[in-house]
Amino acid sequence: MRLTSKLPQVGTTIFTVMSRLAAEHDAVNLGQGFPDFDPPVRLRERVAEHLALGHNQYAPMAGLPALTAAIAAHWRHRHRLAVDAEREVTVTAGGTEALFAAIHAVVGAGDEVVLLDPAYDAYGPAALLAGARPVHVPLRPPGFGLDFDRLAAVLGPRTRLLIVNTPHNPTGAVLSAADWEQLADLLAGSEALVLSDEVYECLVYDGRRHASVLGCARLRERAFAVCSFGKIFHATGWKVGYCIAAPALTAEFRKVHQFLTFAVSTPMQHALADFMGEDPEFADGLADFFQARRDRFAALLADSRFRLTPAPGTYFQLAEYSAISDLADVEFCRELTTRHGVAAIPLSPFCAVPPPLRLVRFCYAKAQPTLELAAARLRAV
Ligand code: PMP
Ligand code: GLN
Repeated sequence: MRLTSKLPQVGTTIFTVMSRLAAEHDAVNLGQGFPDFDPPVRLRERVAEHLALGHNQYAPMAGLPALTAAIAAHWRHRHRLAVDAEREVTVTAGGTEALFAAIHAVVGAGDEVVLLDPAYDAYGPAALLAGARPVHVPLRPPGFGLDFDRLAAVLGPRTRLLIVNTPHNPTGAVLSAADWEQLADLLAGSEALVLSDEVYECLVYDGRRHASVLGCARLRERAFAVCSFGKIFHATGWKVGYCIAAPALTAEFRKVHQFLTFAVSTPMQHALADFMGEDPEFADGLADFFQARRDRFAALLADSRFRLTPAPGTYFQLAEYSAISDLADVEFCRELTTRHGVAAIPLSPFCAVPPPLRLVRFCYAKAQPTLELAAARLRAV
């Protein structure tokens, strides 16, 4: 049998590769982004309660009304933005499904999808499967801000979608409201839509606030915002997320979602809705919680040979390693894992053209002993 791959360029994701290598070598896994602590007890108890209560059959296609209402309340409370729970919110199987459904809802054969490198690895393959051509525009190191000139140069009549990620994985960079306004200027004459991956929406530090695409009036009608409960409730394994978009976009989004997953785990949705109702301020504490870990990790590495870059958002820290090695980042991460016992994520798998700096990504969403053990090993490198 001859099988023609639809994604001949795509292998196994770097997250899976590095987690496997970490397990094989008993390395501290600061690679794949997940906390090594549990979601809040009350939230976990609620899941068990709803399983026992018999909430075990299909949820409504768009999401449990109690949860979409809780999401709208979260956006009002955290981001001071009005969202229509019924017509603008769809609960999905993690942020990943939301990204895929949004791309397939609006992108077709021959379209161009603009990606900002380093770009999270799920965007490009979804665009390719939709028959589109990914167009890569690098962010500007070392701060990884938008390069408006290069963006202006690639936008054209074929551009269907611009995918933006703030706070940004893997660099930790965040966009400001002024950046969104400048993007709105840039897109003013075009039909292009915006997909804004905001799964780290609550993880913005140093007193800054998250600037969502939904807060930019000129982009509001042409934008999808994607979020994930995995990030705000320390539950990456639950795979529950959502998409917010204006009603016309949401209608198209749901046409894909209903045949991709149809609906999302019922007891999980009940538990999330209950917890958000009981403790609407939980997410307010996340910035302090993770900022403390970021700063502790940086202090632990202060006398190492890694140079840390500013990390205003997400739970990732980039580290520059040119004082340690001339290896390319993929090989360096392999060596760090197998010889020094700490797994990290290289940046080149997220870029069409590898970035000019020698950088790796560490995830610091870890308990203190994990960070201490990793840092002790990293200081010895
Ligand atoms: N986008 C980004 C930038 C992410 O880092 C992740 C996962 N960590 C996702 C989307 C996917 O979210 P989920 O795990 O909820 O599918
Ligand atoms: N988003 C997570 C990260 O950046 C990984 C998700 C995955 O493994 N697919 O590490």
